[in-house]
Amino acid sequence: MRAALSVDWTLCDARGLCAEMLPEVIEADEWGYPLLRNNGTVPFELEKQARATVELCPLLALRLSVPAEVPAQRR
Ligand code: SF4
Repeated sequence: MRAALSVDWTLCDARGLCAEMLPEVIEADEWGYPLLRNNGTVPFELEKQARATVELCPLLALRLSVPAEVPAQRR
C-alpha cells in the first residue's frame, strides 16, 4: 500500500494552494476545491512533497495517511 491524501471538507476553504503544490495528485475544481486524483494515492517519489503540502495547508484540512510497514516474517 502507498501513502494517500485525504481532505477534511469541513475545514477546506478552496484557496487551491494544495493543487499548486502537488498537481500530480491534486487538481482544483472550478471553485478551487481540491480533487484528488487516483483517490489521493501518493506515488512514493512524491511523499516528501505531499508532506510539505499537508504542512502548508493554512487550515490543516489535508491529511497524509502512511500505511504501517508490515514486519518481515522470521524464517
Ligand atoms: S490548501 Fe488546504 S484549504 Fe487550501 S484548497 Fe487545499 S485543502 Fe483546501
